[in-house]
Amino acid sequence: MSNSTSGLEAIRDVLGTNGYIDTMPELDAYQNEWRGLWKGQCDLVAKPNSVEQVSKVLAICYEHGIPVVPQGGNTGLVGGGVPKSGIVLSTERLNKVREIDPVNFTISCDSGCVLADIQTQAENVDRLFPLSLGAEGSCRIGGNLSTNAGGVQVLRYGNARDLVLGLEAVLPDGRIWDGMRGLRKDNTGYDLKHLFIGAEGTLGIITGAVLKLFPKPRQKETCIVAFRSVENCIALFTRMNAQAGDALTAYEAMNQLSVEMPVKHGQGIRDPFEKPYPWYALMELTSPRDGTDLREALESVLGQAFEDDIVIDGVIAESGAQRDDFWRIREMIPECQAPEGASIKNDVSIPISRVSEFINRAHEAVEKVVPGIRFVSFGHIGDGNFHYNLSQPLGADRAAFLAKWHDITDPINEIVHALNGSFSAEHGIGQLKRNELLRYRSGVEIDLMKSVKAALDPNGIMNPGKIFNS
Ligand SMILES: Cc1cc2nc3c(=O)[nH]c(=O)nc-3n(C[C@H](O)[C@H](O)[C@H](O)COP(=O)(O)OP(=O)(O)OC[C@H]3O[C@@H](n4cnc5c(N)ncnc54)[C@H](O)[C@@H]3O)c2cc1C
Repeated sequence: MSNSTSGLEAIRDVLGTNGYIDTMPELDAYQNEWRGLWKGQCDLVAKPNSVEQVSKVLAICYEHGIPVVPQGGNTGLVGGGVPKSGIVLSTERLNKVREIDPVNFTISCDSGCVLADIQTQAENVDRLFPLSLGAEGSCRIGGNLSTNAGGVQVLRYGNARDLVLGLEAVLPDGRIWDGMRGLRKDNTGYDLKHLFIGAEGTLGIITGAVLKLFPKPRQKETCIVAFRSVENCIALFTRMNAQAGDALTAYEAMNQLSVEMPVKHGQGIRDPFEKPYPWYALMELTSPRDGTDLREALESVLGQAFEDDIVIDGVIAESGAQRDDFWRIREMIPECQAPEGASIKNDVSIPISRVSEFINRAHEAVEKVVPGIRFVSFGHIGDGNFHYNLSQPLGADRAAFLAKWHDITDPINEIVHALNGSFSAEHGIGQLKRNELLRYRSGVEIDLMKSVKAALDPNGIMNPGKIFNS
């Protein structure tokens, strides 16, 4: 029996028959990326149901040199959870809320809890867990933390990293680190939790977290407004941010095609306007106070923006259903790009003051490479985070367009770099952006990252080939 075969046998013994999968077709969903962009392979999917089981499985993998790929909801967009060999460790059975403390404004949970379930649990005690993104019905909090997920409310509440007070992780050798402290002040040496957050499963397995809760909003105002230019979209954001301050929870930009595609392909999605406009913003203001002051603040800023010719059309949601309709346009953009043929997606961030310069320069550069390319530009513009997506020209050959991937993305990344931006705003590195990491991060940064990796995972069993090439 080979070393790895006996290791797999030992894992089966630890988990029992309901605790693993090692046959097709069940393996398939864990081996491949949901869009089919990455196809992988593994010997077994481990589904531990306790931290102790995770610890035993990792100790076996450490001893037998078996690669371990952690997986939450497998909704990641950079191939980080797709295995090349070894085992997938799925957190789907680690799905219990351990404690909710409405006085401390915290929720402690296992890392396999689905994001939407955590939001619901918080709501049940009149609190808000604000992390919110399109995949929230399937992604799991361990995956969110491992990718330092962003989403639509970062503007007000920060990224996933900002929402964590305590963490529990199992190290590659099987040791359990218990840092499940719900403290807002805790200066006791290096803050170890931040090593695991955003590490994409390359340093250990996150098994639990203490998360911050916030007051539940009582007032919510949502509107969609139209502009002649992206410059005006940013001008309104600046005014809103200055005048509504903390109440401004989301500010999402969408260009014309980003609205047209969901209206054309999304079931039941209606265009809120009678004619198309070059740019739109979907914004939301929230407040934990009762009253009508938000509506007044929104109308006041919008009224002035109309007078100043910054905004040229707009609709304020008059019901929860209308608010959901607006959000569905925004959420359906990625899905509705698919029927329009091949697409190349860029998830970049730029200082907000330079977003319009980025768009103008990137449009010009990309048009030169593929005349007729279609821009599906949208995103969390309030965070300077843009999903600069590109669809193939109408009637173009899919394969020929995709063959130009690097010809298209390289100049975009150069412009981002020149503007002091980041080539990966919220989705991470995974397999997709390893070369960009080497290209755009300094030797010192790469050395430090590799030192951390070597210290925590000396045998290199955790998610090999992710973030770094080896
Ligand atoms: C429709 C749609 C909309 C999206 N919108 C956004 C958005 O607005 N903002 C955003 O940031 N992302 C977004 N994403 C991307 C994705 O949902 C996030 O990256 C999410 O955080 C991944 O969670 P997951 O549970 O699916 O993780 P997975 O895809 O399973 O894993 C992601 C990475 O984390 C690692 N990992 C998973 N669990 C653990 C663990 N417990 N311990 C250690 N490592 C682990 C994996 O190995 C992998 O490297 C979107 C995706 C879709 C499909």
